[in-house]
Amino acid sequence: MATQTKLQTGAWLETPGPNARVVIRNDLPIPSPSKGEVLVKLECTGVCHSDVYGITGQTSRSTNIMGHEGIGRIVEVGPGASQDLLQKRVGVKWLYSYCNECEICEVNVTACPNQHNSGRDVPGTFQQYVVSPIEPLTMIPDTLDSAMAAPLLCAGISIYSAIMKLDLKSGQWLVILGAGGGLGHIGVQIAQRKGSKVIAVDTGEEKRKLCMDLGATCFLDFKTDDVTTEVKKLTNGYGAHGAVCLSGIRAGYELALSVLRNLSSLVPYKMAVHGFTIIGSSVGTKAQLDELLQMAVRGEITTITKVHEFEELDDLLEKLKRNQISGRVVVKIPQ
Ligand SMILES: [Zn+2]
Ligand SMILES: [Zn+2]
Repeated sequence: MATQTKLQTGAWLETPGPNARVVIRNDLPIPSPSKGEVLVKLECTGVCHSDVYGITGQTSRSTNIMGHEGIGRIVEVGPGASQDLLQKRVGVKWLYSYCNECEICEVNVTACPNQHNSGRDVPGTFQQYVVSPIEPLTMIPDTLDSAMAAPLLCAGISIYSAIMKLDLKSGQWLVILGAGGGLGHIGVQIAQRKGSKVIAVDTGEEKRKLCMDLGATCFLDFKTDDVTTEVKKLTNGYGAHGAVCLSGIRAGYELALSVLRNLSSLVPYKMAVHGFTIIGSSVGTKAQLDELLQMAVRGEITTITKVHEFEELDDLLEKLKRNQISGRVVVKIPQ
């Protein structure tokens, strides 16, 4: 091996498929930034359900390094880029790049058909260093903790965008199915701060406590409660004004439809395709993400993150696959 090649540590996907595993490798090359790009040294990264879909082969993938909720500092700039960028703390998201030239980009770059995605077709954030084009990077407010910010880059902005699409008025009822998970626990807080009364639906005592602590008006356990009847009781017999379904299974959507009143709205957030749903709820715009980060700076929302060691990543992905994770997990990147 050439002695000049600088190497780094990363989590490498071995044997993609139902029994996929990631292994920690120390022999991955550190990339160099080209024109318009920077090199980011990552501090931590969130672990998202989409990473599980990628490694198990449920969604397409062409890189062996997953991850798309990375926070770190710019340590090198490509030719022509401003030196002022050095040491800036940034977020590397699912939307790695977009063309800025097509008709879709004119409307909303997050839907660009020519986009590249971290951890899908370009190496993601489960590694120490990542090269990124400058424009799509998100500047992280100084006072916001990295582990707190990481989940907002994907889980947070996705649920924020979904809830805003419902356009609910203050005091109206919102049902969140899957309220105790990575997206749901942030959604409960956003909806409550925006004035909705939140009916959190999930299962188990841990998730019940989490949702109630975060401001849900009530919690229904889909395994033990008759959710449809209980929602009707809470809403004068009409049903909720809106619902966000974070479940990937058919029963979840059937339940979502059963709790809605006439003339209401449903956002069926389909994580498997990362937000391209039948009503087009995608990951949200840059402006929305900045607003969301400011909500976190003001302490209006928090991400319930447990921070783990990088070596635990394989186990965490396995747990995520089995829906055994409340809130969100973030892993530290070895420094
Ligand atoms: Zn994600
Ligand atoms: Zn485009």
